[in-house]
Amino acid sequence: MSPRPLCDICNRPILAGAQYIVRIDVFADPSIPDMSTDDLEESDSEKTMAKLMHEMEQLSADELQDQVHRRFQYTLCRSCQKEFLTNPLGRPRSFSIKQQGHN
Ligand SMILES: [Zn+2]
Repeated sequence: MSPRPLCDICNRPILAGAQYIVRIDVFADPSIPDMSTDDLEESDSEKTMAKLMHEMEQLSADELQDQVHRRFQYTLCRSCQKEFLTNPLGRPRSFSIKQQGHN
């Protein structure tokens, strides 16, 4: 029998049937940004392209991959799954409880 998987957050063995998988895909938005005709005329596209190619040569394959697509996968126990769903981006909790001053 294979050993019980460990929760990636609390590191405790996960009970059978209480295992959750979290997958996170991080990739560049493939949609083309809106550019007005003025923007296009202002930019020297050949120069920009050469600069971009040069910059890409400076990056390692890993860095390039980071910019294109990263996929993470985690195994969570039930209680950590609940925690995760309440705050998927790991934001500081105070962020949503913003104080509204009346001065
Ligand atoms: Zn856990």
